[in-house]
Amino acid sequence: MALSAFAPPDAPDLEEIRKCVHCGICLPQCPTYRVLGEEMDSPRGRIYLMRAAAEGRLTLTETFTRHIDLCLGCRACETACPSGVRFGSLLEATRAQLRRHGPPPRRRFLDRFIYAVFPEPDRLGAALGLLRLYRRSGLQRLVRSTGALRFFPRLAAMEGLLGDVPRAEPLPELYPARGRRRGRVGLLTGCVQRHLFPHVNRDTARLLALAGWEVVVPRGQGCCGALELHAGRTDDFRARARRLVATFPDDVDWVVTNAAGCGSAMKEYGHWVREASGLAVRTRDVTEMLADAELPLGRLELTVTYHDACHLAHGQRVRQEPRQLLRRIPGLRLVELAESDLCCGSAGVYSILEPGIARELLELKITRIAETGATVVATGNPGCLMQIAQGARARGLDVTVVHPVELLVRSIEGEAI
Ligand code: SF4
Ligand code: SF4
Repeated sequence: MALSAFAPPDAPDLEEIRKCVHCGICLPQCPTYRVLGEEMDSPRGRIYLMRAAAEGRLTLTETFTRHIDLCLGCRACETACPSGVRFGSLLEATRAQLRRHGPPPRRRFLDRFIYAVFPEPDRLGAALGLLRLYRRSGLQRLVRSTGALRFFPRLAAMEGLLGDVPRAEPLPELYPARGRRRGRVGLLTGCVQRHLFPHVNRDTARLLALAGWEVVVPRGQGCCGALELHAGRTDDFRARARRLVATFPDDVDWVVTNAAGCGSAMKEYGHWVREASGLAVRTRDVTEMLADAELPLGRLELTVTYHDACHLAHGQRVRQEPRQLLRRIPGLRLVELAESDLCCGSAGVYSILEPGIARELLELKITRIAETGATVVATGNPGCLMQIAQGARARGLDVTVVHPVELLVRSIEGEAI
């Protein structure tokens, strides 16, 4: 038998690959298949490539790498698959094999920048401080007026994503439980969330406290490693997972996230890092934590639609909790979004690495949002918040894009929160 192109550690599981029966049910759910129309850019095609490589019929060529790298990692194929193929872990393992040879040459510099800055909260904070200066000094207007960014599509994608960059103050380390105490939870503040959406972290902590949880916000907590896991940088991911486990006190009942990508990676820690499996089973999204909470919700006359972040709907299978919470707000009208779980093109750093495909998906998402007539879009992931807000700005669509916790806090009036 020919030698596999994959080698341990982190080789894709051939048994898992062989679970695919080539039925094609996942194809219409796959955003890259939809945009590119190529079998090799569909889940079935990618699994075919993985199998051929695992059985030694194919080497890890540039073409192979390209089809694997064009995948968004959205995992829509996973929730569609009747055979239960765990595509997400196959993709991560395949990328781990590819990354042994480093990133593709054409994006070596960008990769180095992304992974040196994005998962390092202090460096990310410093970079965003410079961006704040870039915007407020008028330099951004000047650069845009020259049109020079069109020659650098990836830089343009990164630059266009950012709205206002707020000043992020650290949260208090402890939020005492209010009312009947239910237990103690740790809050993951994330990297992008901490710097660009600090109010979402604050709102999450206040709501959890109001629901009876004592909230611990460990200082110095690092990145969960989600970006690195999805890119196949498994050694860096494992190191971050171990550090994060050591950050949270042992006595917390749950570790709560409000960023779909982080929650999805943390819930899968056990697959990659045995000693992190305890934290994995104690990880929950904030909407899961609040689903049965008694909250003094007041009236909010708004028409809202909800976009399912991929790593919440497909990665964590959390779809109903955010919707049920929003429906509980008196006066709030929730209108369903067509294809609400189709990726918006954000997908971690995908919108920077593959701006063309990301833009097509974003265009479709904005069209669907416009069809709802909603004035507010709620979604549970910082990448989606930025991506959809940018798409709405570009289209001139008058919608506000928020995390569901922001609406809950707005509906709770005055002193209660
Ligand atoms: S993860 Fe998403 S983009 Fe990748 S193959 Fe599956 S459905 Fe397609
Ligand atoms: S739905 Fe599942 S079994 Fe069918 S082609 Fe897709 S991955 Fe394979």
